[in-house]
Amino acid sequence: MILGKCPYCKGSVHAIKSSANGKKVNLYSCENAKKEYDDSEQFVFTADSTCTFRVYSNVFLRWNKRSFSKYEMKKLLEDEQIIVRLHGRAGTKEYFKYVITDKEYGVSILWDEEVEEKLISS
Ligand SMILES: [Zn+2]
Repeated sequence: MILGKCPYCKGSVHAIKSSANGKKVNLYSCENAKKEYDDSEQFVFTADSTCTFRVYSNVFLRWNKRSFSKYEMKKLLEDEQIIVRLHGRAGTKEYFKYVITDKEYGVSILWDEEVEEKLISS
């Protein structure tokens, strides 16, 4: 499934079923950013990769967002930034932050930007 165009090389970004620590996740990957295990079992970019844009759907797990959905990724590629809902530890309030694409890390959270309440659609 193609979600949109890579912001760095204009290649197609695909959603691929993958797994991380035994859990099913989606991988959103630029067609030009392929990884493989090398001879020493390191997970590295293939020699023919010309891009590094890859995002796993569990990318925000640390902030208790279980899944970054295909829909959210699609919207991020279209709008260049999106608002995501994050949570503190159990029992604490949810909060919203802007997310932008990041060439090296796939996505990054803009911690210093406040999201105006009227922009939040639940
Ligand atoms: Zn790319």
